[in-house]
Amino acid sequence: TDPTALVTTPSGLSVSFEFSPPKTEKAHENLWAAIHRLAPLKPSFMSVTYGAGGTTRERTHATVTEIQAKTGIPAAAHLTCVGSTREEIDEIARTYWDAGIRHIVALRGDPPLKADGTGGLGGLGYEPHPGGYAYAADLVEGLKRVADFEVSVACFPEIHPEAPSADIDLDNLKRKVDAGASRAISQFFFDPAVFLRFRDKAADRGIDVPMVPGIMPILNFTKTAEMGRKCNTYIPRWMTNLFEGLDDSPETRHLVAATVAIEQCRYLAKHGVKDFHFYTMNKADLTVALCHMLGVRAKAKVVA
Ligand code: FAD
Repeated sequence: TDPTALVTTPSGLSVSFEFSPPKTEKAHENLWAAIHRLAPLKPSFMSVTYGAGGTTRERTHATVTEIQAKTGIPAAAHLTCVGSTREEIDEIARTYWDAGIRHIVALRGDPPLKADGTGGLGGLGYEPHPGGYAYAADLVEGLKRVADFEVSVACFPEIHPEAPSADIDLDNLKRKVDAGASRAISQFFFDPAVFLRFRDKAADRGIDVPMVPGIMPILNFTKTAEMGRKCNTYIPRWMTNLFEGLDDSPETRHLVAATVAIEQCRYLAKHGVKDFHFYTMNKADLTVALCHMLGVRAKAKVVA
């Protein structure tokens, strides 16, 4: 079959790219090499993560404003509740608004990793900061009080690790949307059918904002699987099989990763998904290839 056939109207798909703020001069160069390749694809926005507990506050701000100024593409700042008072968060938000940043990805964040192994990614052991925004829904409400930001939030097709049930987690997503979020970006997942079921359940609940799949191109399978365990992302047995024995073969691994991700994206596109958010890990290669195959290209058009 024609692999481009499902993309009948390439311009009908929109993509967004997520980056993390660089720590070193070299990392800054690498990030910009990636942005230079990705920006011509005209993403609807590019977002920059916020380190656990605000550890990247300045670097996130610098990266977000630099992206918007140099590429002209709307940039979104991730912001979390962890470790800050409401006043501090409101001040950060005002600074973004004054700098022309109009889009915030509002998150609760995870607690810092403790010596006993609790905390960190996945969020177990979270305690709200006294005087802070307790959960993402409270943060969305607070941001909307500061200014009329466009707000995106997180959603979890395989349930957030701390949520007692799928229904309770969906109630939480509904609260975030009711508070003013206009888009939900999903945690990464590998079984696209799981995402589609989640999207449909959310629609049944009256959650009427776009549900955007978070696509994680696999750069390192072992690390991704480890992250998946913490975040409640199911790693299918077939995927472990596919990457088995490739630890020392980066180029082959790269080809396998591209195949896995494109199959996932094509399946989603075939089932009506129009928006894709890519966790780029500050690297362009796989994301450019995926966008290209979805028909999202700098110049060339896919002929239907
Ligand atoms: P919330 O929506 O607040 O939910 C967290 C948990 O609390 C859920 O289990 C929910 O059901 C429960 N809950 C909500 N309200 C209540 C309540 N009132 N009482 C009791 N329980 C409640 N982390 C970062 O540190 N920096 C980032 O830049 C970052 N970017 C991300 C981007 C995306 C697209 C995604 C999907 C995640 C990102 N994360 C980031 C991770 C995120 O912070 C964690 O997944 C965190 O554990 C949950 O965040 P949340 O915004 O979904 O929290």
